[in-house]
Amino acid sequence: MTEIHREKVIDVHHWSDTLFTIKATRNRSLRFRNGEFAMMGIEIKGKPLMRAYSMASSTYEDHLEFYSIKVQQGALTSRLQHIKRGDEILVSKKPTGTLLWDRLKPGKHLYLLSTGTGLAPFLSIIKDPEIYDNFEKVILVHGCRYINELTYQRLITHELRHNEYFGDSVKEKLIYYPAVTREPYKNYGRITSLLETGKLIEDIGLPTLSVEDDRFMVCGSPSMLKSLTEILVNLNFRETRKSDFGEYVIERAFVEK
Ligand SMILES: Cc1cc2nc3c(=O)[nH]c(=O)nc-3n(C[C@H](O)[C@H](O)[C@H](O)COP(=O)(O)OP(=O)(O)OC[C@H]3O[C@@H](n4cnc5c(N)ncnc54)[C@H](O)[C@@H]3O)c2cc1C
Repeated sequence: MTEIHREKVIDVHHWSDTLFTIKATRNRSLRFRNGEFAMMGIEIKGKPLMRAYSMASSTYEDHLEFYSIKVQQGALTSRLQHIKRGDEILVSKKPTGTLLWDRLKPGKHLYLLSTGTGLAPFLSIIKDPEIYDNFEKVILVHGCRYINELTYQRLITHELRHNEYFGDSVKEKLIYYPAVTREPYKNYGRITSLLETGKLIEDIGLPTLSVEDDRFMVCGSPSMLKSLTEILVNLNFRETRKSDFGEYVIERAFVEK
């Protein structure tokens, strides 16, 4: 397992029956960019059992953080959900990914559209001072089925705003828009319909979407990606392809098996 670092779990936080967060030590040689994912998992009978995981921690932090679903029949997460402080996790040495702000054409407004654990890569991105230097507004949209799945609200609405280095930029530029589909909530509905009806734009007070000014990073289920990219393409936004930078980039939050 030469391509893998062994890390120690520092903390585990269970948000609900279906969601939890693992904090672990970080090998000092591990390099990644905010928005990237690595392979993460545990060793079972001498063999690694690993899955793709976005880094929820930022590249300048000393620890690693992963925000995880609990799939009761899932090979990894049926076990991983029982992990405790002091246990070991495995992390691949070469993170990768497409959710990188500098792989978008320059723009004014950076929309981070996520559902479920698709929030994870954006947690590292909203902790990145560079995005506040490069965009006038950063809009984090997190869609879930239930209110108790709207995790990390303290970080997003309080801790980042009080960050001693870039808290002022966060206060001025970060707009947080949580939305829920299966119970009454101030922002009710799927991200797709909130975009199509114009409610999202109206609620946050920004101009109608335009190819000149608006950039998107999207992370969610395969079906969410499909329907959201259809909307973006219909509005003439183009996906970044290799060195041909467009107005949006996408990453799957998981693969349907
Ligand atoms: C690029 C990429 C990044 C990812 N980042 C994360 C992350 O940061 N956090 C995370 O929890 N997962 C993430 N995943 C999914 C992750 O790789 C695993 O699928 C997940 O940990 C479940 O593993 P498992 O072995 O328990 O179940 P699997 O056998 O992998 O999955 C079983 C089924 O569970 C469902 N499922 C799997 N993952 C999710 C999920 N995250 N949300 C909703 N339903 C799911 C799917 O229907 C899947 O078919 C990512 C996947 C990809 C491709």
